[in-house]
Amino acid sequence: MNEELIRRLRICTSLPTPPSTAVRIIELANSPNASLTQIADAVAFDAALATKMLKVANSPLYNSRRSASNVRQAISLLGTHAAITIALSFSLVGGLKSSRQSSEAQLFWQRSILSALACRVLAKHFKLPADDLLLAGLLQDIGILAMQTACAENYTQATAEAADHDQLLQAERTAFGSGHDEVGYWLLKRWHLPDHLAVSCLTSHIEPNGEIAVNSNSCVAVSGYLADVFMKPTDPVVTLRATNAAARWLGMEAQAFTDIIDGMREGVKEVEDLFDTPLVEASQADALVAEAKELIFIANLRQSREMEERALRDALTGAHNRAYFDDALSKEFELAMRHGWPLAVAMLDLDYFKRINDTYGHAVGDAALQSVTRVIQSQIRNGDIFARYGGEEFVLLFPGTPGDAAAKVLNRIRETIASFHHTVDADTSFKVTVSIGLASHANGQGAIKSGMDLVNAADRALYLAKAQGRNQLEQSRF
Ligand code: GH3
Ligand code: MG
Ligand code: MG
Repeated sequence: MNEELIRRLRICTSLPTPPSTAVRIIELANSPNASLTQIADAVAFDAALATKMLKVANSPLYNSRRSASNVRQAISLLGTHAAITIALSFSLVGGLKSSRQSSEAQLFWQRSILSALACRVLAKHFKLPADDLLLAGLLQDIGILAMQTACAENYTQATAEAADHDQLLQAERTAFGSGHDEVGYWLLKRWHLPDHLAVSCLTSHIEPNGEIAVNSNSCVAVSGYLADVFMKPTDPVVTLRATNAAARWLGMEAQAFTDIIDGMREGVKEVEDLFDTPLVEASQADALVAEAKELIFIANLRQSREMEERALRDALTGAHNRAYFDDALSKEFELAMRHGWPLAVAMLDLDYFKRINDTYGHAVGDAALQSVTRVIQSQIRNGDIFARYGGEEFVLLFPGTPGDAAAKVLNRIRETIASFHHTVDADTSFKVTVSIGLASHANGQGAIKSGMDLVNAADRALYLAKAQGRNQLEQSRF
């Protein structure tokens, strides 16, 4: 993790700390033979928590046919392991929440609790330990809380423009050298929480490598996307991202996906009540499920595209090739038109690339193309589509993204490429710049009638960028 950030976290005196009840329960969680009596004592120490444990044991979420009338009965009904995990969930949220009441903190807990609920529903679906997953989901983004506290207004500033969770992580990494994934890991280790909880902070942000592995970590990874569906119920792009994440990590079909959303809707009231946090309006939750169902056919489109994807790569750079791009372009264009979503396309062409070949040889030119590819790939988001269009020309497609937002990303890419040193040997290195043409439409109402129209417009903008001196971005909006 970034040294400077560790220093800041270390000297920060107001870093979130677990409340005293949680500290006792963490000790119990780490001891292999915690007894029912020990757990009951720790819970009884905190009146609010004791009430909550009773409520949980008698709650429909746990479908127990018997009912508990005291804490000991509640713990024996739940089982000692589950009881520890549940008690830890409540005492951590209760203790940490009361210390911060900003609207930022409110949103943070809403999303965490919805993620926890998603984890629980996924666990039931895949027959994994539900309470462990609930806790992992609850704590996966705890690093955000630590960064908000330790970096204060710098954090707010650096992340102000992040439109979703993936962008937030990128912004944190750019500004502080590490994201909340690493910070969360660091913090939970410091609290002596069981290892798997700390680890899931890290793994929840690692993309699957093309293979589907259904386990706790992949459920935690998907849970954040599912939480976003409830956080932004009117944004279909968010639902689409979630279906896509569920397919990538867990191999979920559209039907299973809507079942999970349904399960979450059923649990929302219950967890709102248990965590004393308002989450979503009941009427919104119903509309949400209807919407998810409507999006099924889109999710199917995505899946078939993912299969094709593997066959459609460029041999030199490993980027997607033009055939892949053309196909993705027409699908994304159609989706954008149907829903009135924005869409942006950029053509990128390396400047004076012939000179590189002439000066250093073709092999060095090839290596430079590979480096540029990696630079671009490191700067874009999951849903963005990137391909080598031919020679030293690349193309980028930003679904659901307005032109100005795409321009920001592209200018960062342009600057990163321009500052990258391509090494030839111990004494020789060179730099390459790129010219970029960007074309975007806001809602499909203008002159643009096909994906190719957009590409041609980007090409014309690129030509202008070259004519105006290269190493620059030229943008046209429709
Ligand atoms: P500008 O775009 O700034 O106008 O100049 P340029 O020199 O980049 O333009 P031009 O299109 O004339 O030349 C592109 C060069 O890119 C020609 C070719 O030598 C090189 N190139 C294209 N594909 C490859 C490749 O796969 N490997 C290598 N090493 N070079 C390539
Ligand atoms: Mg060219
Ligand atoms: Mg060129």
